Amino acid sequence: MSRAVVRRRLGASWRRLQATVIRWRLRASPARVAGALVYHQTFRAQVRGEQVVPGIAAAVLELHLRHLRRSYELVPASQLHGAMLARRRGRQIPIAITFDDDLASHLEVAAPLLQRLGCPATFFLTGAGLDEPHSFWWQRLQAAADRGLDPRPALRTAGLFAGAEQSLVGLARDVERSPETVRAAVAEELSRLIGGDPPEYGLTRSQIRSLAHAGFEIGFHTRDHRPLPELADDELARALHDGRAALEEATRQRLRVLAYPHGSADERVAAAASSAGYTDGFGGPDRSITPRAARLLLGRIELLLEDPSAFELALASELWASR
Ligand SMILES: [Zn+2]
Repeated sequence: MSRAVVRRRLGASWRRLQATVIRWRLRASPARVAGALVYHQTFRAQVRGEQVVPGIAAAVLELHLRHLRRSYELVPASQLHGAMLARRRGRQIPIAITFDDDLASHLEVAAPLLQRLGCPATFFLTGAGLDEPHSFWWQRLQAAADRGLDPRPALRTAGLFAGAEQSLVGLARDVERSPETVRAAVAEELSRLIGGDPPEYGLTRSQIRSLAHAGFEIGFHTRDHRPLPELADDELARALHDGRAALEEATRQRLRVLAYPHGSADERVAAAASSAGYTDGFGGPDRSITPRAARLLLGRIELLLEDPSAFELALASELWASR
């Protein structure tokens, strides 16, 4: 065995040991803390090329899930806050596994894996593809890159600078910061470039129904996926309402939990979500949940680490730091 391999294995064992010690200390304490993990796209094989929204390979997700079901109490997002308050000394820390956006990979990769391992999860969907194919601008941007097409001319036509040296993520950031009219033009131009909606994005009614029938909790992610803090009060109320009933009808579930689009929310948005009847809103800070957090401004943690020992340690450390 080479020295590098020995060093790597020792490093992994050390991280695992540290993670285990932290979890024991957390379990032994009366600390009230919980974690919501957020994932997006899952890939059967490796994640290839630059991703606008970081994804995870099925093999890596499987390692995460095996660890989570062994070491934590897994609950749907709607039960996370209650499980945190109800936890007694000696019991495991509650964790919710969540997935955002309407992605074919939810049904093809994530759901079968979750079912095989017996892990509950919550899928936050927009339902934008219920009646006809639909994809958002950043999904079209990703599709263009995946197909080897340069998206820059399309972005320039839509009014952006789109420099030759800008990365895909950099281009996406510029679009995200632009006014809604520019984002709409970007979506239009990219659709022209890639020739319509790519099949990997948007879930049909029957796909959404399958996900709900498989026993997963469905939460709302708003139909138009616009950053809510930028909306005026009346637009905000509409964003929290439009498409909700159709998704409830398709899933036969009441949509009481919400993941804010782009993870962005503030107190005004949270108040509007509460008025609209949501019990829990996820977004805001990238951290664990404690009784100090407002239920409509709960944080989520994104940990896509490939090395399972690094994942175990990062999660335990995050929970420990927030307690
Ligand atoms: Zn999203």
